[in-house]
Amino acid sequence: MSFDIQAATDRLMRFLAVEGVTGKEAAIGRELTAALQEGGVPADAIRLDDANTRIPVPTETGNLIVDLPGRGAMHNQPRIMFMTHMDTVPLCAGAKPKVAGRKIVNQAKTALGGDNRCGCGVLVTLAAELAKQKLDHPPITLLFCVREESGLWGARRVKTQDIRSPIMAFNYDGGSASNVTIGAVGADRWQVEIFGRASHAGSRRSAGSVRP
Ligand SMILES: [Zn+2]
Repeated sequence: MSFDIQAATDRLMRFLAVEGVTGKEAAIGRELTAALQEGGVPADAIRLDDANTRIPVPTETGNLIVDLPGRGAMHNQPRIMFMTHMDTVPLCAGAKPKVAGRKIVNQAKTALGGDNRCGCGVLVTLAAELAKQKLDHPPITLLFCVREESGLWGARRVKTQDIRSPIMAFNYDGGSASNVTIGAVGADRWQVEIFGRASHAGSRRSAGSVRP
């Protein structure tokens, strides 16, 4: 199946250029809403939930939720969900993305914000291509979470009735496109003090030392 790679790249560049660090997702939420509508998603299919009112740290806006009715032969199939997060780590404030050959690079000395504007690009491109190509699909929920980077708050506070109880969900975040994680053992919580240079845990895991 073919899709418009240029349009997908343009969307990613657009989302990378909008500052939206964790807890301050109002602007990227508006940009995503505009891009979804330009991609053919009706305005009344897009809404913000009230998760931010139930998150115990200041959060500008709720999760962005899109409800795509099923189409064609698959319209009665069980609902599935595609999710991502729309915040970045604070290191990304001020990023200036630029296309350089086959790469997108940063002209500013900040982190770029591919985590997770790439996920935003995937979900908006999915919606736009489904609309443009008029493809059959089951009912789909798109979920763009807030405050993932500071405690998974958007995902923890979303109401299952707001996402219409999908039977399956695909989360787009981090790592290689060829890696798929299909399960996890759960969570364990402990407190540590970390000494060393500030860095992103995903890319420089050895930058500090840990004293439990
Ligand atoms: Zn992420």
